[in-house]
Amino acid sequence: MSKIYNFSAGPAMLHSSVLEAVSKASKDYNDHGQSLMEMSHRSKPVVEMVAETESLTRQLLNISDNYHVLFLQGGASLQFSMIPMNLLDTNMIADYADTGAWSAKAIKEAQLYGKVNIVCSSKESIYNHIPKQLTQDENARYLHITSNNTIFGTQWHDFPKPFNTNAYLIADMSSDIFSRRIDVSKFGLIYAGAQKNIGPAGVTLLIIRDDILDKIDRKIPTMMNYRTHIEKNSMFNTPPVMAIYAVNRSLVWLKNIGGVDFIENKNKLKADKLYKEIERNSLFVSPIAKEDRSIMNVPFIFSNESEEEDFLSFCNDRGLRTLKGHRSVGGFRASIYNAMPEAGVDALIQAMKDYESR
Ligand SMILES: *Cc1c(COP(=O)(O)O)cnc(C)c1O
Repeated sequence: MSKIYNFSAGPAMLHSSVLEAVSKASKDYNDHGQSLMEMSHRSKPVVEMVAETESLTRQLLNISDNYHVLFLQGGASLQFSMIPMNLLDTNMIADYADTGAWSAKAIKEAQLYGKVNIVCSSKESIYNHIPKQLTQDENARYLHITSNNTIFGTQWHDFPKPFNTNAYLIADMSSDIFSRRIDVSKFGLIYAGAQKNIGPAGVTLLIIRDDILDKIDRKIPTMMNYRTHIEKNSMFNTPPVMAIYAVNRSLVWLKNIGGVDFIENKNKLKADKLYKEIERNSLFVSPIAKEDRSIMNVPFIFSNESEEEDFLSFCNDRGLRTLKGHRSVGGFRASIYNAMPEAGVDALIQAMKDYESR
């Protein structure tokens, strides 16, 4: 059996050092003689580990002190609700860009709490590009984007600016956080479910600028209130300690190989190779506008009617797993997050070549 490469969009592959550390910690955490799962989140080793994870996040993304870094539960999906619940009064307007299924879900939740202005939508063309023309509302409180559209394989390469100088940018970065350099100071809030690029499901990273927490004229349940988690350093209730530890190890790995600068170059190189092969190979095409292609999720389809299952099983036999496209798009999708080594992309390219010349 050849080496397994998991191209899943999420939960996605993690570096082997992360899996080893987590498996060791599940039996005996750092020689404390106890599993990390059994240890109190108030105990010194656990408090220190969570603090270190925050500090690694700050270092790697160069986050300044006027931002809080939180580890929450409920996935990125709960943030679709928590954001408008905390930041958008019933009579306020927020701008949302509709660039994919996750954007649409965020819009749906925001509409429950305030007024939503959809600044652009690429839905009519099955979200195959990022619209360049945005119709922002001059009174919008914030502008919400999905920085990388996991399902459709598009990515904002240049971030839009909110129209109003008092407004701020919010980004769902679930599928590209830590994959490329970002200037956090350009954002009011960034959130990301861990299970795409930095860990397992169960923990969501939130980076929030202190001054955006105005008074909102609404009762917010304690668990849904950002202030609760800020005041208690993400320890209001029992945090998902194992998941946070996996994030911790992923960030240590990332730091050791050279941080975000290094991984961005690597990710671009991997994506570039794969797109080149899709263009060269007579069997495949990319359905995505060239300038908006994601460096994380690479969808491709057959150029002619062919048996998709046949190519999938051809790949599967070579240990190339989970390449089926999302059910709403069809075809194939290779998710090549930080932990996917260049060798995995090379193996996929070789499979595409061999399949062509059969
Ligand atoms: C996967 C994903 C989500 C949903 O994340 P959950 O943690 O499952 O709620 C939201 N947004 C984007 C961009 C995603 O890729």
